Amino acid sequence: MAVPRLVFGRMEDDRAHTLERFVATEGYVALRRAVTAMTPAEVADEVRASGLTGRSGGSAFTTAQKWALLAPERPAYVVVNGDESEPGTFKDRQLLERDPHQVLEGALLCAYAVGAEHVIVYVRGESARAFERVHSAIVDARRFGALGSNIFGSSYSCSVVAHRGAGAYVVGEESALLSSLEGERGMPRVRPPYPAAQGLYGMPTVVNNVETLSNVPWIVRMGGSAFAAFGGARSTGTRVFSVSGRVRRPGNYEVELHRTTFRDLIFDPELGGGVIDDRTVLAFFPGASFPWLGPEHLDLRLDIDDTAAAGSSLASGLVVLDDTVCPVRVAARLVRFFATESCGKCTPCREGAPWLEKIMYRILHGHGRRDDLALLEDIGTRMGPGTTICALGPSTVAPITSTLARFRDHYLAHVDIGSCPLEVPARAA
Ligand code: SF4
Repeated sequence: MAVPRLVFGRMEDDRAHTLERFVATEGYVALRRAVTAMTPAEVADEVRASGLTGRSGGSAFTTAQKWALLAPERPAYVVVNGDESEPGTFKDRQLLERDPHQVLEGALLCAYAVGAEHVIVYVRGESARAFERVHSAIVDARRFGALGSNIFGSSYSCSVVAHRGAGAYVVGEESALLSSLEGERGMPRVRPPYPAAQGLYGMPTVVNNVETLSNVPWIVRMGGSAFAAFGGARSTGTRVFSVSGRVRRPGNYEVELHRTTFRDLIFDPELGGGVIDDRTVLAFFPGASFPWLGPEHLDLRLDIDDTAAAGSSLASGLVVLDDTVCPVRVAARLVRFFATESCGKCTPCREGAPWLEKIMYRILHGHGRRDDLALLEDIGTRMGPGTTICALGPSTVAPITSTLARFRDHYLAHVDIGSCPLEVPARAA
């Protein structure tokens, strides 16, 4: 299928991370134009016209709305959230490694639009190459006049620094990320106040994810309405999806929102390439923290509202399971991940997640009881939305409720025969 390249326009170029290649491909054109010929409000207007929404989860919150909420106190900060750690999501790392100047340009345009004078790029601790590339890009951009004092000869100045995280999934949550930047343990904060009012060091802060900001240079260069011409309804533009699991071509793919379906993403020869060995799709999840979808949802559009109406969320990491995969094993592994990553601040998550993990592995390893299913549901209910400070607690429950709803018989077979029913024929042989 024909795929527009907006944020991934330079992905085929192995040298795109260098200043020379970036500048040769319209890099920093938008920033130069903005600071020398546009007002901050005009930059924000283009972003508003684009309809751009956050590219980390399934939020329908528009980027322009988020920017407009920034409180007037100064100094203000722009923080680039590059702490991507969701299992199955790996596209921000690629953007940081292969096109770091684009991320910087987007962040600087945001800073200019909201009147911030400090940008911090927070890179996931494990993404060593991404951090090195961002660090080098900052050095080169400063030499080029794209950041620091009097950007491109204008009266606008903005500092940019890179910060490397220490490897905690929950720091992807924006208030935890700000705590981490302040030198505290990376634990989510009770909100309000929201970062837009009291963020980093108690000052107004915009936190946007890497891909969100990577779209901004294209929007300012080509116009918000040109961006909005892609996609449709509230899902405008393109979006990068990490596709993995039982597909022939795992990888990151930029596709047009609203006009592309999950089936396209999984089966198109230039995208996921279909299921390995032509097996049947058992289920897929659009992000490890979100409810699973089934084969009946393959023709669902990649659209914020359509995915929400189907009971899930348009996240960025599509993991495909086929009929050779034990859904209980996958759910148990996800629960173990979330239980390990719980920061321990709230009781339902701190106590409930390891309890769920214990029960899941008891079932998986053939020591489960039939009433464990009701127990899982009961614990899950007590960890639902609103019971915890951040979404990690409820996220722990999502793989369980999804699989109990779809594969209850598979759970019961685990309990009754003491192992995975998928393994029984192999054992008999
Ligand atoms: Fe920490 Fe879990 Fe509470 Fe989030 S839900 S703040 S990870 S204990």
